[in-house]
Amino acid sequence: MSKELNFKQELTAAFGQPIAENPTQVMVEAAYRHHNLDWRYLTIEVSPEGLKDAVAGARAMGFRGFNCTIPHKVAVIEHLDGLGESASLMGAVNCVVRRGDRMIGENTDGKGFVESLRTLTDPEGKKVVIFGAGGAARAISVEVALAGASHITIVNRSEARGNELVSLLKAKLPVGVSFVPWKGDYSISDGTDVVINATSIGLFPDVEARLALDTSTLKEGMVVADVIPNPPTTRLVSDARSRGCRVIDGLGMLVNQGVIGIKYWTGVDPDPSVMRRALEEVFGA
Ligand code: NDP
Repeated sequence: MSKELNFKQELTAAFGQPIAENPTQVMVEAAYRHHNLDWRYLTIEVSPEGLKDAVAGARAMGFRGFNCTIPHKVAVIEHLDGLGESASLMGAVNCVVRRGDRMIGENTDGKGFVESLRTLTDPEGKKVVIFGAGGAARAISVEVALAGASHITIVNRSEARGNELVSLLKAKLPVGVSFVPWKGDYSISDGTDVVINATSIGLFPDVEARLALDTSTLKEGMVVADVIPNPPTTRLVSDARSRGCRVIDGLGMLVNQGVIGIKYWTGVDPDPSVMRRALEEVFGA
C-alpha cells in the first residue's frame, strides 16, 4: 500500500508523467476543502491478488466508495453487489458507490466526458467520430450513444479492437455505428458534428505526436474534444482552435468524472472550477 508505488503505477498509466502528487487526489481534496467537507480521498495501491480483500476492507471500514483504475476496472465487478447502466453496458467500473449496504459499480469516465461535451453541444442527434477503441473510447461511445447521438464512427488502428467495440455498440445501443480501419490521414466527412481523440496519442512525453488526420477537414463550428489531460493543449487542441472549431481539452473529462464521483459519494455538487484550477496547478497549465 505504498503511496509512492501507486503514484508511479497510476500516473505512468494514465498521465505519462511522474508527478509528485496524484492529480485525482489533489483535485478531489481541493473540492472537499472548498465545500468544508471533512472527507479524505486516499491513494492506495492494491495488487490483483489483493482486490477481493481490499473491497471487503472498504466495506468493513465504512468507505462511501472508491475509484479504481487499470488493472482492476473489470476484475472488481465480481466483488460488487450491482452495476449502474453504463458500467453494465461497458463491462468496466471506475467508481464504486455505497448505496445502503450495497456496493454499486459505476463508470464515470464517459459520463464525465458527456458532461463536458454538454457545455458546448447536446449530443442528441449528433454525428460523432471517435479515434480509438480502448477503455476511454468504449466509455465515451457508450455514454454518447445513451445521450442520443445518431451515428458514431469508430476509427482505430487495430481492426480487431475496433470491430469489437462496434459490435458492442450495435448489439446494445440504438445508435448507427460504423468502423473505419485507421490507415493514413483520416478525413472528417461533411456533416460530422463532434470529433473525439480517445487514443493516447499526444500524452506526455510524446507531446509532438500527431493524430493521423487531415486537419483541413476540421470545419469551423465543429466540436473537437481530446481526452489527453497532460498536456491539456495537445497538438489536436491547437490545430482545432486555429481552424475555428469549438474545443474541449482532456481536463474537462477528468474534472467532470470527479464531479460525478463526489456527488455520488457525498451528495454535494462540487464546484468544477475549483477542481480544474487544482489540476491546472498540477499540470502547470
Ligand atoms: P487503451 O490502452 O485502452 O487504448 C489506447 C487506444 O489508443 C487504442 O485505441 C490504441 O489503438 C490507440 N493508440 C495508441 N497509440 C496509437 C498510435 N500511435 N496510433 C494509433 N492509435 C494508437 O487506453 P485508454 O483508452 O484507457 O486511454 C487512452 C487515453 O485516454 C490515455 O492517454 C488516458 O490518459 C486518457 N484518459 C483520459 C481520461 C480523462 O479523464 N481525461 C480518462 C481516461 C483515459 P490500438 O487499438 O490500435 O492499439
